[in-house]
Parts: sequence; C-alpha cells; structure tokens
Amino acid sequence: MSEHWKVIDGSWPEVFHVPGDNGARYPYSNALLVKTSKDNNAALMIDCGVGARIARKIRKEFNVTSIILSHWHEDHTVSSKTIRSARIYCHPADIPPLSDPVAFMRNYGVLGNEIEQQFTAFMESIGVEPLQGVQPLIPGPFQDGDAALQVIHTPGHSAGHCCYYEPGRKIAFLSDIDLSKFGPWYGCLDSSLEDFVQSIRKIQSLNIDIAVPSHEGIKEGKAIKDGLDYFLGKIEERNDKVLTMLRERSPLLARDLYGRNIVYRNYDKFGDYLRHAEAIMVDLHVQYLLDAGKVARIGEAYTLA
Ligand SMILES: [Zn+2]
Repeated sequence: MSEHWKVIDGSWPEVFHVPGDNGARYPYSNALLVKTSKDNNAALMIDCGVGARIARKIRKEFNVTSIILSHWHEDHTVSSKTIRSARIYCHPADIPPLSDPVAFMRNYGVLGNEIEQQFTAFMESIGVEPLQGVQPLIPGPFQDGDAALQVIHTPGHSAGHCCYYEPGRKIAFLSDIDLSKFGPWYGCLDSSLEDFVQSIRKIQSLNIDIAVPSHEGIKEGKAIKDGLDYFLGKIEERNDKVLTMLRERSPLLARDLYGRNIVYRNYDKFGDYLRHAEAIMVDLHVQYLLDAGKVARIGEAYTLA
C-alpha cells in the first residue's frame, strides 16, 4: 500500500483511488488504478493527470498496460507521458485534439486570436505534448485482463467525454461531471449544453453507491444525487442570469453579455482565458434558450421571446 493510492471499497480490493497532486486542482486530476491480474502488478489506469511525481511512483509499483482517458483535456492526460508502457484509449471524438496541436487549439477557440500566444505558453509550461497512437474507445463493455468496465459516453463537457461504471459494485468514475461547487464547465468549441444536460440525466439513471469525480473527493450515497441535482440547477441558474440581462424590446448582442459574471465570479486567474471561456459558455446558453423558445433573435441580436 502507498500513501499515494488507496482501496476505494473492501468489496473490490483490486481498485485504487489515486488523488491528483495539489488536491487534484487544475492542472491535476484524480485517477483510478484497476488491477487486471491477481497474479502480478498489471493494471489499467483511468485518466492520467495525477502529476509527474505521483505518476513516477505508479510506474515503479505497477505495470500499467492501458490508460483509458475520460476526455482530451490536458489536466486528465498530461502525466501519461511518464507512464510510457501503456496503450492509451479515448473516445474517437476526442482523439484529434489529443494528437494534433492545431485541433487542440481550435477546440479551445484560441487558434489565431489575441490570446493564442499566452495560451500556448501556458500549455507548454505545464508540459502538454500531443499523444500519438491513441486507440479508439467504443462505448459499451471494456475488458483488460480481469478488469471489466462499462464505458458510458457522456458528451457536453467535451464531445467524447466518457464516464466509467462498474454495475456490480455500483462504482462510477464521473470525470468532469465532477460534482464541484463551481458546477458544470462547457467552455470549449466541442462543448454542448444540451448534451451536458442529457449526460447528467444519463448518470442520474445509473445505480451508483460510490462516485469518483476528477477534482473532488470520493462521493457516496446521497451526496451523489445532490451533486447531480446541483449541477442541473447551476445550468438553470446561469440560464436565468442570461434571461435577466435580456430585454423584451432593445435587443442585445451576445457580446453584451460577456464579462458579466454569468459563469465566473471574477476573472483573476489564467490571464484573459476565463473571459474567453465564459464567452463560449454564454453563447451556448443563448443558443439553448433560443432552442427552448425563451429567447428571440433579431438579426445578430437577442431579446426575450
Ligand atoms: Zn475537462
């Protein structure tokens, strides 16, 4: 046993929770290690953003044969270069931004714009590198040795975002449906608000006793239900903020809603990036409300419907 990982549940001693470095705060995230054989130290790993220091400890203790990524974001992938033995899997929709720096920048919506340079410098500073040879992970059963999991496609946060579920033990790895107080995040160009809502409902329909989110501690029982309800509520709260700002007559452009704290309380961290990500999220709310018939479009501008 190690200070860096621990068994989640006595009924499933082959599964270890690996908390990410620095409390799993970005650019780190939690991972799971699942032993794939009782006879040796072979294991599969779900996500690999624990940080290089912890990844090196894992490499010493386990023979990680596969890493299954929940999605393409760097805080879930950046430590996989430390565990070189593994074959890497991800949902096909998320393979282009993992392997192609241009697709990565395009998905973040920064390609060719004024924050591209600071964004690139930041990603280099945390060691992001393209991953080659990523295998497509198809939703449904996934088996590696003795380890078997259900891959559940839960798009919204990213197009290929997946959760992992073991129905026998009622354990789910929820990744960035992370049950945080901040709420759901959908600030990339492959994000979808509608899909995110559907994905939360899909997770609500599963029988889960233990949930492992990427940036929060393990949740059990009612905290899981409450966390998922809170996530849906947070989307509604942001919708309401947009509706409060729009008028029945004088139409507003989407950009009139930017920088008005619909998502973030302040924009202090990460240079200009949070304003940029919030603008993408605000656009998704406007589109969502248009589709719901609560907002009307007049040329390029919007009013209440
Ligand atoms: Zn993410």
